[in-house]
Amino acid sequence: MKYYSTNKQAPFASLEEAVVKGLASDKGLFMPESIQPIDKDVITDLKNKTFHEIACTVAQAFFGQDIEPDTLNEIVKDTLSFETPVVNVRDNIYSLELFHGPTLAFKDVGARFMARLLGYFIQKEGLKQVNVLVATSGDTGSAVANGFLGVPGIHVYVLYPKGKVSPIQECQFTTLGQNITALEIDGTFDDCQALVKSAFMDEALNQHMKLTSANSINVARFLPQSFYYFNAYAQLDRIGEADELVVSVPSGNFGNITAGIFAYWMGLPIKRFIAANNRNDVFLEYLNTGVYTPRPSVSTLANAMDVGNPSNFARILDLFGKYEDPHKEICKRISGYRFTDEEIAATMKQTYTETGYILDPHGACGYQALVNNHLTPNETGVFLETAHPAKFKGVVDQILSTDIKIPAKLKAFMQGKKQSIELSKDFEGFKQFLLQQ
Ligand SMILES: *Cc1c(COP(=O)(O)O)cnc(C)c1O
Repeated sequence: MKYYSTNKQAPFASLEEAVVKGLASDKGLFMPESIQPIDKDVITDLKNKTFHEIACTVAQAFFGQDIEPDTLNEIVKDTLSFETPVVNVRDNIYSLELFHGPTLAFKDVGARFMARLLGYFIQKEGLKQVNVLVATSGDTGSAVANGFLGVPGIHVYVLYPKGKVSPIQECQFTTLGQNITALEIDGTFDDCQALVKSAFMDEALNQHMKLTSANSINVARFLPQSFYYFNAYAQLDRIGEADELVVSVPSGNFGNITAGIFAYWMGLPIKRFIAANNRNDVFLEYLNTGVYTPRPSVSTLANAMDVGNPSNFARILDLFGKYEDPHKEICKRISGYRFTDEEIAATMKQTYTETGYILDPHGACGYQALVNNHLTPNETGVFLETAHPAKFKGVVDQILSTDIKIPAKLKAFMQGKKQSIELSKDFEGFKQFLLQQ
């Protein structure tokens, strides 16, 4: 499979190049040249398959031209050591729980898949060490660090804003050691992201070391997220609830929802999508006006969605670019909602009181968007519950007056010893640090 850039100014890349580089040379995002459809009878038969089998079928469609089936199945197996169950919350609304992986957030799926795929290419080609730079406001850093832990030939540098990630999040990437280095930056998340971007642009650095990104701009990280859309369909089909699916995705950088749209494009019968946002609502504004105006993010309770310029917006535009009026076609299939912190808290509280289900602040946006969307009796709503509520224990306990249990997996991280290197937010210092590695 060849990969083109959404900016159309870079040469085609192989899968290996797209994964190793992350971003195209014209700063566009890589897209597969074609999206292979999945046969109708295969989709009808999904309900008789395991998650592993379903994921292998989808992985085959994306990566089958480039990777031997046995190797690909092995990568899928290593990635999915956990389930993504669908749980009924009330009436015709279901939660797709994506938080049963090692760091309790959906990003585990993409991060683990990417780590294994990149590890495979490095071994096969005998590439020199690849260095992953990742800026995080919390969740990405933990998923990437844990996904890449111990993979030969890869070193990960996690940049995070000092004092601005929760202690639970911080321990998930500062206690690992081995090939994971945590860099505590005296600045904001935007400063961390700016450092990473400058590093990718810096010629001397790129000559010194091979750099790549593990954000959802990387095809190996966002495409595998389509696996669990197929798996959700299979689970709901088993109970006769999959005929008119409305899927609501709490969105930040829009990698997750883009993977869902890829699944739809491959033939998965999803009636429509909802992009649920917090106060960072540039996508909703685009739906309403047809004009896309990125702006700095504001901080909210659902902090993993605090994104003012979603990188995967370019992929959505590109997917619909074949239509004469892309905006109209996008609006036909995706609607949007935005929620303030007060609304997020009210949703969490009401849902807990009425159903006993504990939503995390991100899932709460997805859930409430389904409620506001007024599903018809024939429709089934599924929202992606993107993180375990215990990852946001402080906020959740305060809103619900609970003392929720911290899962054993999280506790284990909290017992480790924090190791991090403090750096200022100025690029020269960061560059000198990397040049000495
Ligand atoms: C990353 C993240 C999101 C946003 O996902 P995108 O793919 O960036 O849209 C939502 N919720 C949680 C908990 C996350 O960690």
